[in-house]
Amino acid sequence: MKVTLLGTGSPIPDPNRAGPSTLVQAGPLNLLFDCGRGVLMRLAAAGLFPGMLQYVVLTHLHSDHTTDFNDLVTTRWAMSPVEHPLPVIGPPGTEAYVQRVLAMLVDDIGYRRDHHADLNWDPGVLVQEAHDGLVFDQDGVRLVAAPSDHRPVAPTTAFRIEHDGQAVVIAGDSVPCAGLDTLCADADIYVQTVIRTDLVQAVPSARLQDIHDYHSSIEQAAQTAARAGARTLVFTHPVPAPAPGTEDEWIALATPHFDGPIIFATDLTVVET
Ligand SMILES: [Zn+2]
Ligand SMILES: [Zn+2]
Repeated sequence: MKVTLLGTGSPIPDPNRAGPSTLVQAGPLNLLFDCGRGVLMRLAAAGLFPGMLQYVVLTHLHSDHTTDFNDLVTTRWAMSPVEHPLPVIGPPGTEAYVQRVLAMLVDDIGYRRDHHADLNWDPGVLVQEAHDGLVFDQDGVRLVAAPSDHRPVAPTTAFRIEHDGQAVVIAGDSVPCAGLDTLCADADIYVQTVIRTDLVQAVPSARLQDIHDYHSSIEQAAQTAARAGARTLVFTHPVPAPAPGTEDEWIALATPHFDGPIIFATDLTVVET
């Protein structure tokens, strides 16, 4: 399997990091996890257009993970020569969220349908809500869901992709929890969004301090990886964004807890099983 960290940013605007989104290519399937800021630009850099995705998977409905979902829906629809509904998988609440996004797009849908005689269908989105257990088994690829813990944001879902005897986990935003431990068991690649506790604490913003209790710290992500027997740990969505050249400081905080390889992803980092 091939994992491309398309966007490795967080809600904080960053000139070098697009919003959170990760492409997993497993067998014949292209799976996009989350749709953060700039996802279509990074997807194009990875050689894919929206019409080439078999599934879009949302870990949760926080804005940084969904803000460009509407761009994906519109561009897939407007560029397709035939009706080509978008399959979307996400936690409970995703169907209602998608219907609200489609309602937001009603003006643009009308403009384009009125202008292009051959575009005579609306964008289609096929939602499957998933929270725990097998989501699909298709073309030799299994997608398994488990509840993550990003409370008070709930429900949120983490995912494990299995293909050819190997496993990749896309955890999304979560503190350590039983669901992550289950998915990460013997995983080849574990991708975790992280924060750095000491640097966040140093920021004089009361609002920013609220994020400590719903994100994995660097140390907690390493502990989850070690406890579950994951082989390679990938950090993404670092908060705050690391100053260039300080990535090794972050990794040094993890190594006392996990002795496998650790990759600090930047946009378009590729990790293969
Ligand atoms: Zn996030
Ligand atoms: Zn979140």
